[in-house]
Amino acid sequence: MKAVRFFGHKDVRVVNDIERPVPKGDEVLLKIGGAGVCHSDLHIIDEGTVVGTVFTLGHENAGWIEEVGENVEGYKKGDAVLVYGPWGCGHCKPCQQSKENYCDHQSEQAYGGGLGLDGGMADYMLVPSSRLLVPIFDLDPVIAAPLTDAALTPYSAIKRSLPKLMPDEYVVVIGVGGLGHVALQILREISGAEIIACDVTEDKLAFAKQLGAAYVINSKDADAAEQIQKITGIKKAKVVLDFVGATSTIDLGTKVVSLDGDLTIVGLGGGHYQYSMNGLPFGVSMTNPYWGSRTELMEVVGMARQKKIHIEIEKHKLDDANEVYERMRQGKIKGRAVLIP
Ligand code: NAD
Ligand code: ZN
Ligand code: ZN
Repeated sequence: MKAVRFFGHKDVRVVNDIERPVPKGDEVLLKIGGAGVCHSDLHIIDEGTVVGTVFTLGHENAGWIEEVGENVEGYKKGDAVLVYGPWGCGHCKPCQQSKENYCDHQSEQAYGGGLGLDGGMADYMLVPSSRLLVPIFDLDPVIAAPLTDAALTPYSAIKRSLPKLMPDEYVVVIGVGGLGHVALQILREISGAEIIACDVTEDKLAFAKQLGAAYVINSKDADAAEQIQKITGIKKAKVVLDFVGATSTIDLGTKVVSLDGDLTIVGLGGGHYQYSMNGLPFGVSMTNPYWGSRTELMEVVGMARQKKIHIEIEKHKLDDANEVYERMRQGKIKGRAVLIP
């Protein structure tokens, strides 16, 4: 079968000689409908976040059940499912609470399919347990694939700040890409806060306005923080969601977040923050959440089925993976690119 393989630093190749896996025991074989292209792949490819192993990329996966191992019950061929991405041990307390993204054993094992183990940029994908599947019912797997990360990650980050996202407050979203464009819609649907969106190009800012941002600011402007403070006034932004995570965006976040606010850094842009007592308002919670829980993914599926979130999708072939990654490096993708076998 065909697969998009990571061979090492800046070395991604589309190959045709991968054997189609056969599921045993608890395993499930999926026929892939779509695999989303996440910016985290670029951190792996360009910066070597996951090293020393060759594997199939793609950690935002959806498809149809093709075949199940002898222990699997409750699924039949053709059922449409998402693959929950962070694969935990399945036994520890966070895993029992469905928070496999915070599995006690994360430091001892590969993170999951497409992140050290074989992922979904292929004709078929082997999932180690049906525990990691979430049914999508009438949703199309091609369109639904990015729900597993581009929607789940911002959903989980927003949910933890929800009590602070009241109608008299401001929320700043930095980066209106794959995750950010869904974050805007989730905020619009489940929070009351007024949204200020930041990106670095005019088309992304126009896109943000369409998705519910009341204000848009180009974060390349030297006075971006002052522009935001002009909108928020003295109370500043109760929540800042940074989907870039560069030193410059973290710096912007610290300047615009309010007393007792949340500064949530989702982006893995390798930024640094030097704590100083005067550099951060009192009471700020600075967090770096990772992905979301399995039950939160079910809630995200609910939002998509109710048409409360729409993922803007570009469809591409597996063969075009390297071109798509290059367009992502240049910030040219609107919404999410999905590779379709
Ligand atoms: P993306 O490439 O689709 O979008 C990034 C967006 O940020 C683009 O619109 C780009 O124009 C914009 N941008 C770049 N520099 C900016 C700046 N200085 N100010 C404002 N906007 C800027 O990326 P994505 O797939 O949405 O991922 C975003 C980040 O989140 C990546 O670093 C990714 O690795 C990370 N991520 C983290 C988690 C997690 O669980 N913590 C999960 C998924 C992705
Ligand atoms: Zn991702
Ligand atoms: Zn665990």
